[in-house]
Amino acid sequence: MSKLTGKIALVTGASRGIGRAVAVGLAEAGCDVVVNYRSGAAEAEEVSREIARHGRRALLKACDVSDQAAVDQMVDDAVRQFGRLDIAVTNACYSDRELFHEANLDGFRRTVDVTMWGAFYALRAATRAMIERGEGGSIVVISSPHAYVAVPRAMAYNMSKAAIDQMARTAAIELVDHRIRVNMVHPGWIDTPGERKFASEDAIQRGGAKLPWKRMGRPEEIARGVVFLCDPASDYITGSSLAIDGGITLPWWANRGSAVPD
Ligand code: NAP
Repeated sequence: MSKLTGKIALVTGASRGIGRAVAVGLAEAGCDVVVNYRSGAAEAEEVSREIARHGRRALLKACDVSDQAAVDQMVDDAVRQFGRLDIAVTNACYSDRELFHEANLDGFRRTVDVTMWGAFYALRAATRAMIERGEGGSIVVISSPHAYVAVPRAMAYNMSKAAIDQMARTAAIELVDHRIRVNMVHPGWIDTPGERKFASEDAIQRGGAKLPWKRMGRPEEIARGVVFLCDPASDYITGSSLAIDGGITLPWWANRGSAVPD
């Protein structure tokens, strides 16, 4: 029996991509899972069936994470339904790719609202539920190398990811007395529907082959990291970040024989 058996987890943005893999990975590890999504009801139903195939319960919750009242309600509903909340994974994101000086500010603000504020609302609501129960918990913030690499055409997303890294670290120190661990995962370039929105199949294939590990990552590889961080055996890990990125943030552009770019 896994050490996560019987734990209750909430994953935001769990209808597809990394969130989906995390929800299924946590179910495989023994958790009942609250599957949050915004619009992909059919995809979320499929995630729910996958969770059931692992013998666990799923609660589907459609809510926009940028709506604080809706996120609070979702966490309340989860606690009412399952009796507790042990694990929360803030994963939902939104991103437009455009130059900041030309950007439509509605899209710019939407990126910050979902990616930064959405992560904060979920972190806050989950924390409050965990503190009320008084048995600790584990929170994982899905961040990105965009938190520290200034990728062009992604300023709002870069800003949001940098902010949630500090959010996670600050929460980690503020929550030590409550035995709530807060950690981050920094995925590299992962093959998800969200990424395919920005790249053709050809670009995906050519881009993947240029990465240091010669391929894109798989959502399941991120899920393994999240399950590891949530495992009670990881009790001494808090305020930490786990890069699962195939070396993408290493200086892979450098000539292996010198520090001078090849
Ligand atoms: P994705 O394929 O676009 O999936 C995004 C998920 O978030 C979907 O389930 C979507 O559901 C949900 N979502 C979007 N807006 C939402 C909102 N306002 N409220 C609630 N749910 C919402 O994304 P992904 O590539 O798996 O990325 C997941 C996380 O990994 C993000 O935090 C991203 O920044 C991070 N990440 C990804 C990569 C990568 O290469 N893929 C790299 C580094 C970090 P609906 O469609 O139903 O709205």
